[in-house]
Amino acid sequence: MSSATREATVVDSVNKDLFIGGKWQSAKDGKTFPVHDPSTEEVLCEVADASVADGTAALDAAVAAQDDWAKVAPRERGEILRRAYQALVDRKDDLALLMTLEMGKPIVESSAEILYAAEFFRWFAEEAVRIDGGYAVAPNGSGRFLVMRQPVGPSILITPWNFPMAMGTRKIGPAVAAGCTMVMKPASQTPLSMLALAGILADAGLPDGVLNVITTSHTGQVMEPMIRDGRARKLSFTGSTDVGRKLLEQCADNVMRTSMELGGNAPFVVFEDADLDAAIDGVMTAKMRNIGEACTAANRIYVQRGIAEEFSNRLVERMSALRMGRGTEEGVVVGPLIDSAAVEKVTSLVEDAKQRGAKVLTGGSAVDGAGHFYQATVLADVPQEARLAHEEIFGPVAPITVFDTEDEAVANANDTEFGLVSYLYTGDVNRALRVSERLEAGMVGLNQGLVSNPAAPFGGIKHSGVGREGGSVGIDEFLETKYVAIGLR
Ligand code: NAP
Repeated sequence: MSSATREATVVDSVNKDLFIGGKWQSAKDGKTFPVHDPSTEEVLCEVADASVADGTAALDAAVAAQDDWAKVAPRERGEILRRAYQALVDRKDDLALLMTLEMGKPIVESSAEILYAAEFFRWFAEEAVRIDGGYAVAPNGSGRFLVMRQPVGPSILITPWNFPMAMGTRKIGPAVAAGCTMVMKPASQTPLSMLALAGILADAGLPDGVLNVITTSHTGQVMEPMIRDGRARKLSFTGSTDVGRKLLEQCADNVMRTSMELGGNAPFVVFEDADLDAAIDGVMTAKMRNIGEACTAANRIYVQRGIAEEFSNRLVERMSALRMGRGTEEGVVVGPLIDSAAVEKVTSLVEDAKQRGAKVLTGGSAVDGAGHFYQATVLADVPQEARLAHEEIFGPVAPITVFDTEDEAVANANDTEFGLVSYLYTGDVNRALRVSERLEAGMVGLNQGLVSNPAAPFGGIKHSGVGREGGSVGIDEFLETKYVAIGLR
């Protein structure tokens, strides 16, 4: 089979309708919208364009299914996730190709994301049967406390385009394990992975109405009535801080539970006592994973003066050797950005840094022609006032700033309203612990350029979010705690 035929077959295999109450159905008004390949700008296919009425129907289905779903045995909920985990692993190659076609990332990274996404299902399959409670004697000895954990209820889940599968399983896994029903809305630029996942979960035995998936091109208009409806009890959102703020306001009227996984602006701090080989490998991962389009991407690189020149030279050598191209081609590391707006944003951030005195060591411009490509770029002498020290770059640009003292490094690292992840490279164990404690972030990568792990609590502080996904606390986001006060005679 030629590669073009295989690509068409993989896209054709996905149902492009809305998935509501266990049935695939077109939008009530029959409308659709296009999904593009960001490496060619060509239309891959059309998917159903949900209206407000479709959104209401999806919420109706989730509400109707909630009571019965909450009664399903935890072991059975776990077994469904386990079967879906296996299906994701078995179908990894086709799902990875689908993801690369709609999102652009290199096929190797898409494959890694499918496995990472699957691991959330395996992890929460195990957590489903570990939901605990408690029994205690009241301090005055006259009563007893019984503590039980119950599903929050129907939940609205919204995911971004940058990790089309993993951001979904990181929410669906704990929601299924906890006994919540859901309406899931994937990003309009990358809906195909989630539509494929809905089919996998249905095949794995998820009852009708537990997961409902809607795709729409007029997102705010469709989602706001659902959020304000009052029947959904939880909103779990991953996306930008600006949209997250808006959604928090919408949730306020009904005092909905919220989980917010928002933007980042990760500092990557390298001290002179660090293992330089490890730091270079780490920064390549933290910067270039997902073409720099990750909330965890190293956005600012602070290097201590004594090693700054060698670090820059080695980083330039690695970055300038990266192959750019369509994510389906072998050996490509720098795929396209998601759209032309992303290329414009990266371009304007780099221009701003240059005007403020930054030097371009390699790359530094967008690529003409079809597809949304930007060169792998290293900037030196980036001043702290540059816009890219304060805004998410979301592209393959590595800005280096030199520092002298530990205090200066920590002050620069914390000089942001975000607080998702910070990276720290040092060979001194005292400094490692001292600086880890001082960094204002929900996660610290200590001599490691990758923090994401389904078994660990992922999340941010400050404007990077509220709540944690993954780890043993991940399921808590979908559980309420109820306490029964027992009078004893
Ligand atoms: P985004 O523009 O905020 O969109 C995220 C999701 O929200 C999409 O599904 C989008 O739908 C939807 N949305 C947009 N406006 C909405 C509204 N008014 N009401 C309800 N939903 C709305 O973010 P993005 O550009 O897709 O993703 C990149 C951002 O996500 C970055 O800031 C990144 O740091 C963050 N992120 C955070 C994490 C984390 O775990 N902390 C992980 C990944 C990404 P449409 O696609 O239809 O617009």
